Amino acid sequence: DSSLSTSKTNGMNGHAQNGVSPAGASGRIQIIDDEKKFTQDLTPQIERWGLRDAGFNYDIVAVFGSQSTGKSTLLNRLFGTTFDVMDETKRQQTTKGIWMCRGQDMSVMVMDVEGTDGRERGEDQDFERKSALFSLASSEVLIVNLWEHQVGLYQGANMGLLKTVFEVNLGLFGKKPQDGASGGRTLLLFVIRDHIGTTPLANLQATLTADMHRIWESLSKPQELQDRQLSDYFDLAFTALPHKVLAADQFESEVRRLRSRFVDKENPEYLFKPAYHKRIPADGVAFYMENIWEQVQTNKDLDLPTQQELLAQFRCDEISTVALAEFNEQAKSQKRPIEAGKVVEGLGGMMKSWRKVALDRYDRDASRYHQGVYKRKRADLIAALDTTLSPLFFGQLKNLHKSCLIAFKQEILNGLKGDDYNFADVVNKANTECEARFTEGAREAVVDDSPEGKALWAWEDELVLLKEEVRSVADQCRKDETKKMVNQIERNIKKQISEPVDLALHKAEPDMWDSILKAFRETLDKAESSYLSKARSFNCTDEENNVALASLRRRAWQVLRVKIDEQTADAVILGKLRGHFEERFRYDEHGVPRVWKPEDDIDGAFKVAKDHTLELVPLYSKIEPKDSSLAYTLPEESLTSTEPGSEDFDFEASLTIFSETKALDLTNKFRRDADAYYVEAKRSTVASVAQ
Ligand code: GDP
Ligand code: MG
Repeated sequence: DSSLSTSKTNGMNGHAQNGVSPAGASGRIQIIDDEKKFTQDLTPQIERWGLRDAGFNYDIVAVFGSQSTGKSTLLNRLFGTTFDVMDETKRQQTTKGIWMCRGQDMSVMVMDVEGTDGRERGEDQDFERKSALFSLASSEVLIVNLWEHQVGLYQGANMGLLKTVFEVNLGLFGKKPQDGASGGRTLLLFVIRDHIGTTPLANLQATLTADMHRIWESLSKPQELQDRQLSDYFDLAFTALPHKVLAADQFESEVRRLRSRFVDKENPEYLFKPAYHKRIPADGVAFYMENIWEQVQTNKDLDLPTQQELLAQFRCDEISTVALAEFNEQAKSQKRPIEAGKVVEGLGGMMKSWRKVALDRYDRDASRYHQGVYKRKRADLIAALDTTLSPLFFGQLKNLHKSCLIAFKQEILNGLKGDDYNFADVVNKANTECEARFTEGAREAVVDDSPEGKALWAWEDELVLLKEEVRSVADQCRKDETKKMVNQIERNIKKQISEPVDLALHKAEPDMWDSILKAFRETLDKAESSYLSKARSFNCTDEENNVALASLRRRAWQVLRVKIDEQTADAVILGKLRGHFEERFRYDEHGVPRVWKPEDDIDGAFKVAKDHTLELVPLYSKIEPKDSSLAYTLPEESLTSTEPGSEDFDFEASLTIFSETKALDLTNKFRRDADAYYVEAKRSTVASVAQ
């Protein structure tokens, strides 16, 4: 029977020994107090131990066994911890609860349970059961500590407690298949104390193994877990230690041997196998354990993987929030410039770097958690990052579009300075530069150019829009240029036609119109070839050339008509007729002014001069060359107007300078002028006679 344990327990006087040692690498912490409260100080303590950033590179071990079986002593020897050991002389009991220390020079969190032997004392079996369950669920290796003489004794070795713990553990955490991958296996390491040696370890091991299987068979398992074997959840290992006092030297060397199995990864009997690891990153251990305690306390029917997922969700969200906050701060810095229409230099590089830093940060801290949750939350994070970056990207494209278009216009303006340019070359060069500039800027702004990123970071549509606008700007420029050129040509026509028309209309020779039309044709021919030579550099289409030439011809004709109108306005034409008449009436054939004498035939001379002059009126009235081959006709396409609001051109009508009524009116006016000269001539003879 369990006499040793019982006698010692009974001898305790239940008074706490040793306060909590100062914080630090060797500090210990009461993670569950005698009120069954879980500490809020575990995370800072883990940090003080220097394990916070250990990731998965740490292990957890706990101990299970009757009171005063030397558990704390063993842990302190194995791991260099500072758990309270019952003082033989004072027989004091340490404070109830679960304690944790960091293993000395090793990344191990060691848990020790302090408590009364409720089974013996008939009190607080609840704490005993819960702390055992907690130890089993949260550690990789559970040391089952027992005296040699307890082996095979159901009561003495706490086997009843173990049965209960297995049962609840299976109910709470056993749902998911506990293969190595989900990190759910646990090693039960039986340490047989005060092994005298008469019964070989192998025999004790066989007894304990049989006991374990018997307990397992007797468990009332949940329906869906009926077929589960002990070996689906647990590995069993066995070791024995000699009597600490009676065989002190062997005890020490065996403890050292056992210690090496916890420390030395090269040891073939190394105990912290990866399969036992719960895959909880060190910085999440506190939260994880608290939740297990919570479940143990409330007996929530949740399994361990779900617990891991809850933890992962909690931590991944936290990590993601931190990463996102820093990222948003960075992204905000470029929001205003983009909204103000600025093309931000190197925006893509900045965005890529913010995004990478955020994701790296998330990956570093979150990748140790439940992979499914980690990946899901990562996708959420990427979506959140891209939601922030996308407006910056599209804003940049819009601004780039605008600035490229402005640069394009400027480029064309610069190119068209002076006279020595080829319009098509200027436009082509500006066009190539504009597209290259946009493409380069847009490519730079792309955050993710992987195939998955294609859809979100597409800039090609914006380039299509830009190309369309560039084309319409170029078209407008070409139209303006063409117009400018046609105006210039028109001015030249005006200049060139002016003198020949003046001259011909002044002389009023019978072939007056022949020479005017000849001059007109020559001028027009020159203008047309000048247009065509320039238009070649404008990339004008044949259609555009035809329209421009038709308009040019019509305008040239109108220039001519305006010139003629100017020279045939009432006052001007009357002046011309008068001049013509005077030349014949007031001057003789030698150009000498006549002095009329009474015997002169004033009437005859007057009639000749008047008739001759009147003959000019029909000549002026219509544009009609003597040589009909010189007659000019505006081609059909020049007659229909292309400009809105203006009427079609009536060429036939434009040949008439004076209508018949107008001609009659002019004739009458001229007659009156001529009559005045006649009267004046007559008077001058009377005057000379009177002298
Ligand atoms: P626990 O807290 O119940 O795990 O036990 P303790 O480590 O506090 O030790 C209880 C008593 O048993 C102390 O007086 C120890 O000196 C003694 N003790 C520790 N290890 C051994 C051992 O291997 N054999 C024997 N016989 N006594 C031990
Ligand atoms: Mg103890």
